[in-house]
Amino acid sequence: MTDDFTVPVYDDGDADASYIEDKTVAILGYGSQGHAQAQNLADSGVDVVVGLREDSASRDEAEADGLRVAVPDDAVAEADITVMLVPDTVQPAVFEAVEDGLEEGDTLQFAHGFNVHYGQIEPPEGVDVTMVAPKSPGHLVRRTYKRGEGTPGLIAIEQDATGETKEEALAYAQAIGCARAGVIETTFQEEVETDLFGEQAVLCGGVTEMVKAGFETLVDAGYAPEMAYFECLNELKLIVDLMYEGGNMEMWNSVSDTAEYGGLTRGEEIIDRDGFDEILEGVQNGEFAREWINENQAHRPAYKQYRDAEANHQIEEVGGRLRELFAWADEE
Ligand code: NAD
Ligand code: MG
Ligand code: MG
Ligand code: MG
Ligand code: MG
Repeated sequence: MTDDFTVPVYDDGDADASYIEDKTVAILGYGSQGHAQAQNLADSGVDVVVGLREDSASRDEAEADGLRVAVPDDAVAEADITVMLVPDTVQPAVFEAVEDGLEEGDTLQFAHGFNVHYGQIEPPEGVDVTMVAPKSPGHLVRRTYKRGEGTPGLIAIEQDATGETKEEALAYAQAIGCARAGVIETTFQEEVETDLFGEQAVLCGGVTEMVKAGFETLVDAGYAPEMAYFECLNELKLIVDLMYEGGNMEMWNSVSDTAEYGGLTRGEEIIDRDGFDEILEGVQNGEFAREWINENQAHRPAYKQYRDAEANHQIEEVGGRLRELFAWADEE
């Protein structure tokens, strides 16, 4: 453990493999996280069973990867640790189907806290409830593990029935490689609220709205859509890569002084702080979660409309043609 941070950050030295090595782990779902965590666990010597329906298209893949496969309720009945790695919107139904296989002292584990935090899954008392969440997509969780490295991750304890929940979560984080990089301790509430806020206000919602607004402003003023596409979307990657490598200062240091001065003096004009507060409030008071749960129950009518509108935006059509000029990039 290092005390360089404001929160606990654990590493391999804090994990004790004996908390997982004699246990059986059921991985439900074999997608991005499922395939990576199952294979890393198996390579770390942990007994793994992948829980998939009889008709699941992933069965052959999991078996070809050398893993044991069972139907979800059998896998859970057998397992000491059940890990929910089906899509978040599907998890409540899967939980209902396997719930009876959870015995006292078993662990129910998540990689994202939405369903527990917003009450869509209510784990039984007597069961440990944890989160181990790699901070990266599954293919990197797998690829870095094979290189002897790992991706950073989060752990959180929602319910500690056995008194050994944290030790087990750290041992799991070690077995999938995350402790090689660093494991930050958080809570289900903090993970969910920061995740939803980030994707809505900054990463997904904020960035695309900013890109479209910039593009539309230039096109409405009579500039070529191709020029607007390059300035407002294409070059974003160069900027973000610099920020990812070395923070905002690496970016400011790499662009021209003119870009730096213009950005520092003008950027803030387009930011509406009240909008950020409103998004955070909707996440904290559960309004967003209720809306999304209802939307799913109604088979996603609004979601489809928003997606169609996004797909039909002029920037998609211009971008589609311009990206063909970069066909060589696919081969690199
Ligand atoms: P995914 O969409 O890649 O895969 C889900 C898998 O679940 C599918 O491959 C399939 O095997 C199964 N599945 C799909 N629909 C199903 C259904 N209707 N019934 C039963 N099984 C079904 O999921 P993912 O991205 O690996 O996400 C799993 C969990 O991990 C989520 O809680 C997610 O929030 C979390 N998470 C994901 C990432 C990531 O980068 N993808 C990172 C951190 C945490
Ligand atoms: Mg069990
Ligand atoms: Mg996130
Ligand atoms: Mg998210
Ligand atoms: Mg420029």
